[in-house]
Amino acid sequence: MYEVEFKNEFKKALKKIKEYDNIVVFRHQRPDGDAFGSQLGLAFWLKDSFPSKTIHFVGKNSSVYGENVFTKMEEVDDDFFNNKFLAIICDTGNTARIDDERWQKADYKIKFDHHPNDEPYGDLNIVANEIASCSELIADFIFFTGKKYPMSKLSAMYLFDGITTDSGRFLFSSVTSKTHRIAAKLIDIGIIPSYDCFNKLYEKDVDSLIFQKHVLNNMVFTGNGIAYYVLTEKDLKELNIDNERGKEHLSLMSNIKGIEIWFCVTEIVEKNEWRVSIRSKKIDISEVAKKYNGGGHMQASGATLYSLDEMPSLIKDLEELI
Ligand code: AMP
Repeated sequence: MYEVEFKNEFKKALKKIKEYDNIVVFRHQRPDGDAFGSQLGLAFWLKDSFPSKTIHFVGKNSSVYGENVFTKMEEVDDDFFNNKFLAIICDTGNTARIDDERWQKADYKIKFDHHPNDEPYGDLNIVANEIASCSELIADFIFFTGKKYPMSKLSAMYLFDGITTDSGRFLFSSVTSKTHRIAAKLIDIGIIPSYDCFNKLYEKDVDSLIFQKHVLNNMVFTGNGIAYYVLTEKDLKELNIDNERGKEHLSLMSNIKGIEIWFCVTEIVEKNEWRVSIRSKKIDISEVAKKYNGGGHMQASGATLYSLDEMPSLIKDLEELI
């Protein structure tokens, strides 16, 4: 067995869940596998465990994963949010990134997260910023609630997806024995990781392979421990991908001898900005990300540039960290 760190918070969360007839589960904008996984794993467990309540999950759909991986989001009428409801917000460090502003109308808010708790916006904040994924925290919570509220195969699959993606397939330093124990418990529910998760998560289309070729041909090495690639709107059009997929091949630059920090920059033409995804082997890059209108984890952060003229200064700041 492993230690449950948030016993009191988990008890409070369960009490609040029991109290409300209406519950909405939120997550962050531009969702990744963990945002979807934690949100959907929790939402379907709530639907199974409390059939008399109305449970919804909201946010924009994403082109990054197909509907065979993460189901379509629910479309919920504005009227519903005039009812008294509990908001549970997964995997989102700050309010600006919550997908769907209607969370603000909630009577009570629970934050389940694994980003630095710079903005404890919940009435109840359950934040474990040292763990690899929010899905691990949600699974821990669900297992804590005991046999009375079993987890379905569907919820287990979503949570396993979230743990897999945010831990870099169990590779990152934030993976612990507890991560593996929780993953084992999810497998014991009946999922087959290869069929139910890995094959779907990592299936590639031809566009993705051509995109990969483009990244390999165009990545830049600064000579000072940094690698990056830039995708303009023109590149995206030629590659037949949308800007949400810009960071898809970021990991091609990981695990390279001499490269400590790597990032990609994608033009978001509709917002007149450039979205940056930064990763590092060990160095804390989150403060630099904050300086460029972003934030995130020590070794995985996001930022925004308003012009490519900011690139030399971003590169200089990252080189200084090295
Ligand atoms: P990304 O590069 O978009 O995959 O983001 C890497 C990590 O940083 C994820 O955990 C994001 O949730 C987080 N992140 C990205 N952008 C921001 C931001 N503007 N503010 C706070 N956290 C962010």
